[in-house]
Amino acid sequence: MRKLAGIALTALKSNFTKLGRPYKLNFAITYSCQSKCITCNIWKIRPTGELTTEEIREFAKKNNYFKWVGITGGEPFLRGDIVEIVRAFRENCKGLYMLTMPTNSLCNPSSVESRMLQIMQFGIPRVVITVSLDGYRELHDKIRGVTGNFDRAMHIYGMLKGMKKEYPGLDAVFGYTLSKFNKGQFEQTYVEVKKIFPEVTYNDFHINLAQTSENYYANSGDDIRAGSGVAAELQKISAGRRRTLDPMYLVENSFLKNLAKFAETGESPIRCRSLDASVFVDGWGNVYPSIMWNHKIGNIRDAGYDLVPLLGNGEARKVREEILAGREPAQWTSCESYQILLGRIKDLV
Ligand code: SF4
Repeated sequence: MRKLAGIALTALKSNFTKLGRPYKLNFAITYSCQSKCITCNIWKIRPTGELTTEEIREFAKKNNYFKWVGITGGEPFLRGDIVEIVRAFRENCKGLYMLTMPTNSLCNPSSVESRMLQIMQFGIPRVVITVSLDGYRELHDKIRGVTGNFDRAMHIYGMLKGMKKEYPGLDAVFGYTLSKFNKGQFEQTYVEVKKIFPEVTYNDFHINLAQTSENYYANSGDDIRAGSGVAAELQKISAGRRRTLDPMYLVENSFLKNLAKFAETGESPIRCRSLDASVFVDGWGNVYPSIMWNHKIGNIRDAGYDLVPLLGNGEARKVREEILAGREPAQWTSCESYQILLGRIKDLV
C-alpha cells in the first residue's frame, strides 16, 4: 500500500511541477531476439558488449528512485540473469511499485515459468507481462516470421494466468501492435483467442501502433505504419472495453483515444514528459529521452552509472528546450504515454 501511495503521489505531483528525476525507467536489457518480425529490425542486431549483471546492479544502486521499471528487449528472457536484474531494482528502489515486461513467447516455457516464480518472490506489488500477439494464428506467425509462434504465445499466456491464482499482483495481457500488415484484423484475432480463453475481453489487449525509430527498432524508413485509416479500428477497440474500477482503466482508455488521434494526424497528441517522468536506457547504457527519440544524452558507463549528472548535462538541456518549443519527434508509445497521461489527471475524468 505504501508503494502504491508513493507512485500515486509522484504521479499527482507531476500534474503541478517538473519532477527533476524520472520515476519510470524504460530499459532495453538486451537487443538479442529470436523473432524475425517484419515490423522491427532488432532481431537483425547481434549485440555484444551489453551491460553486465554487475553494471546493472551498480546502475540500480545509484538510481534508486524508480517506482516503475519497464524492462524491454529484444527478448528479456534471453538474458540468463533476468532474475538478478529484477532483484537489483527491487533491492535498491525501495518505492518500486510496478514491473512491466514483454515477451515474444519463444523461450523455453518451463524456464520462463521458473524465472517468473523467482521474480514473484520479490514481492513487487504489480507485475505485468505483455505477451506479444499481432494476429490470428497464420497472421501472427507471418508477421513474427516464426511458425508456431501463435500457439507458443497462447501457452505462455495460459501459464502466466495460471500463476495469477497464487500471485494476484501478476497479470498477463496481450500486446497487439497494429501495422499495415494486420490492420482491420483485430476482431478475427480476438475471436480466435477467445476460442482458447473464453474469459478474455478487449481489456486484455494492449494496443500499440507500429512505429519507426533509429535508436530502438532500427527500422527508420521502413514502410510498416498502419496509416490514418486505422483510427476507426482503434476507436472500436476503445469503445468495446469493459468498465472496471482499476484507475489504470481510465489511463488506458485515454491512451487508446489519443492513439487514434496520433494515427489520424501523425502528431503527438500531448506534449511529452521525456527526461522528466521517464527515460530510456539501451542495452549498452546509452541514455535517450525516449525509445522514439534518437538524441543520445550520454552513457551511464561514462557517468559512474549515475543518471543524475546526465539528466543535467548540455544534451539533456537541449532536449528540454526542444520539448518546450514543441519540436520533439512525433511519438505516442505505451512506454512513455502512461506517464504523460498520469501527469494530466484533469483530462482523464
Ligand atoms: S518486435 Fe520484439 S520480438 Fe519482434 S524483433 Fe523486435 S524485439 Fe524481437
